[in-house]
Amino acid sequence: MISRIDLRGALPGDLRDVLPRADFDVEAALEKVRPICEDVRHHGVEAVLRYTAQFDGVELSTTRVPAEAITAALENLDPAIRDALEEAIRRTRIVHREQRRKDVTTTVVPGGTVTERWVPVDRVGLYVPGGKAVYPSSVVMNVVPAQEAGVGSLAVTSPAQKDHGGLPHPTILAACALLGVDEVYAAGGAQSLAMFAYGTEECRRADLITGPGSIWVAAAKRYLRGVVGIDAEAGPTEIAVLADATADASYVAADLISQAEHDTIAASVLVTDSVELAEAVEAELAVQVARTKHRERVGEALSGRQSAVVLVSDLEAGLAVVNAYAAEHLEIHTADAAAVAARVRNAGAVFVGPYAPVSLGDYLAGSNHVLPTGGCACHSSGLSVQSFLRGIHVVEYDRAALAEATARVVTLAESEDLPAHGAALKARFDWEIPS
Ligand code: NAD
Repeated sequence: MISRIDLRGALPGDLRDVLPRADFDVEAALEKVRPICEDVRHHGVEAVLRYTAQFDGVELSTTRVPAEAITAALENLDPAIRDALEEAIRRTRIVHREQRRKDVTTTVVPGGTVTERWVPVDRVGLYVPGGKAVYPSSVVMNVVPAQEAGVGSLAVTSPAQKDHGGLPHPTILAACALLGVDEVYAAGGAQSLAMFAYGTEECRRADLITGPGSIWVAAAKRYLRGVVGIDAEAGPTEIAVLADATADASYVAADLISQAEHDTIAASVLVTDSVELAEAVEAELAVQVARTKHRERVGEALSGRQSAVVLVSDLEAGLAVVNAYAAEHLEIHTADAAAVAARVRNAGAVFVGPYAPVSLGDYLAGSNHVLPTGGCACHSSGLSVQSFLRGIHVVEYDRAALAEATARVVTLAESEDLPAHGAALKARFDWEIPS
C-alpha cells in the first residue's frame, strides 16, 4: 500500500528531488481562485453568498452567524466535549501566554536609544476549515494566540454546513462561545478570505488572516498576500517519523494513519535505518487501516505519491532526510530521542519519544497545530503570539547624540547621492556639521 524509497546508498545532492510530496499545485488553483477573490472585491456579500451556494450547496441570505446560534451551540454542547475543549484552551493559553515579547530598549550612544515596541495588529480574520472534516480545535489554535497577543478585533469564518442549517458546525460555534468570540461568519474557501481582505457590507476588512485550510485556502492566501497580512501556508497535513529499531511499530503505524485521516493528499512518511521496523510498520498499517473509520481516505493518502517509507543507512542520513523534507509534524522514535530531536533544524513541530504523538499536539499538548506544510517549515514557523504582533522601532536621540552622528550620516548620504538627507541634519546645526 505505502511505497518505499531506498536511500541506503549515497544520498543525492538535493534530497528534495527524491522525497515524496503531494501534487498540491497552488499555482493551478490560483487560476480558479483569482476570479473568486475579484468577484468578492467588487460585489461583496452577494458574491460570497453565491460561492457558498456553489461550493457548499447552501443558499444563505447573510454571511453573519446570529449571536443566538453561537449561544445555543454552547448550551447544547456535549459536556465531555466542553470539558475537553476547555482543557485544550487552558493548556494552549498557558503556553502562548509565555510567548509574549517584552519591549526592548537599547542605548546605542549616550542620549540615543532604539526601542522595539511590540504592537498587536488591530483586526484579524481567522479561518477554521470545514470541508472534509470540521476543526473546532483550529478555533482554539487561532483564537488563543491572537487573544494573548492583545488583538482587539477578532472574527472567525468557517464553511456553511448543509447538515446544520447553513451554519458552521455547532462545535465550532461552541468553541467560539467558550473563547468569547461573537463575530462569526458562515463562509469558506477563497471567498471567505477575500471577504476578510477586501471587506463586505457585512464584514469589516481585516489587517491579517491566519488559519489552515485546503488548496483553495492556500491559493487565496497566496493571491491576497499584500492586500492583507497572511500567516504561513498551512495546507494538507504531513507527518514524518524518524525511527530506529527501538521504535514500536504499532505506535508508528497508528500515528501515520492519524494524519492520513485528514485528507486524501495528506502525507505520511516514515524514515528509518531498520528494514525490520519498516516491514513491521507496513504489516501494522495493513491491520490498522482495515479497522479505521475513514479507511478509504486513509488508504488513498498512504498509497499516494506523497507518502512513503524511506530507508536510510543510518540515523545521520535519517536526520539529513527529515531536515530536507521539513515536515509539518516530525516524530522522533529512536534511542535517546531528545538528543536526536535537538539536531532537527527544519520542522513545524517536533514530537519526542513514544508518548508525544502528533494527535496530542493536534488537540491538547498546549502547542499550536497551525503549522507550515509543503516544505515551508524551512523558512516559516507555526502560528504563535508572534504571528499577531509587529515590532515597531521607536527612535529617540537628543541634540548631542544627533550632533555626534551628523558627520557620518552626511558622508553616507553623499555616497548615495542623496545630499538632502545630510542637509536634514545640518539644518538643525546652523547648516554646519557639528564638530
Ligand atoms: P476547507 O474549509 O479548507 O475547504 C473547504 C472550502 O473550500 C469549501 O467551503 C469551499 O468553499 C471551498 N471549495 C471547495 N471546492 C472548491 C472548488 N472546486 N473551487 C473553489 N473552492 C472550493 O476544508 P477541507 O477541504 O476539509 O481542508 C482542510 C485542510 O486543512 C485539510 O487538508 C487539513 O489537512 C488541513 N489542516 C491543516 C492544518 C495545518 O496546520 N497545516 C491544520 C488543520 C487542518
